[in-house]
Amino acid sequence: MSQAGETGTLFVISAPSGAGKTSLVAEMLHADQKLGVSVSHTTRPMREGEKDGINYHFVGRSEFETMIGQGDFLEHADVFGNYYGTSQVWVREMLAIGRDVILEIDWQGASQVRRLIPECVSIFIVPPSAEALRDRLVGRGTDAPDVVARRLTEAREECRHVGEFDYIVVNDEFKEALADLLAIVRSQRLQVGTQQSRHKQLLAELCGESSSPA
Ligand code: 5GP
Repeated sequence: MSQAGETGTLFVISAPSGAGKTSLVAEMLHADQKLGVSVSHTTRPMREGEKDGINYHFVGRSEFETMIGQGDFLEHADVFGNYYGTSQVWVREMLAIGRDVILEIDWQGASQVRRLIPECVSIFIVPPSAEALRDRLVGRGTDAPDVVARRLTEAREECRHVGEFDYIVVNDEFKEALADLLAIVRSQRLQVGTQQSRHKQLLAELCGESSSPA
């Protein structure tokens, strides 16, 4: 339960395609039940194994454009020729009830969110080497060679924006990268502003500002 005035933290996580972001975020959610992830809308075709409403809300371009017009998105971007967007209502509602929310989005979306919610915490995940990135992109085997080549170009473009983020996590050892991500979340929860709203009563008592005995 959130206390009055307590709002959740928005974590924005970006990475070049193939850096392992989706697996890391899935493990973060598993390890920390207080985290929630936003399910984006996209116009890209569903991949094998994906489920509508779980991985993404898969919609057509005209539906997506209608949603843009209605102001349904907190942010949206064209990535690899497809639209991707984050639901405004869902994110705002989660934050308002004190839930910490993760957005798994690209650098364009991250920069829009930073402008709208400057107190968000942004994290950039990188692979340990350029070779590892290439291997991971090719190794996935779900895309045609021209798509892989384009993803490599896009990955380089994504990496050029690394300096705009608050944290960088290197995904060399999965467990270590996961621990780094969870440490960022934990340290955020321990910040003075967050703790002051969470422990209002306690801090008031300790300062002798409450009727209860200290
Ligand atoms: P994929 O199609 O491989 O799942 O994702 C392609 C890229 O789109 C990734 O960089 C992913 O983070 C990004 N992406 C996914 N959802 C969103 C979103 O809602 N907004 C933005 N801006 N990017 C997104």
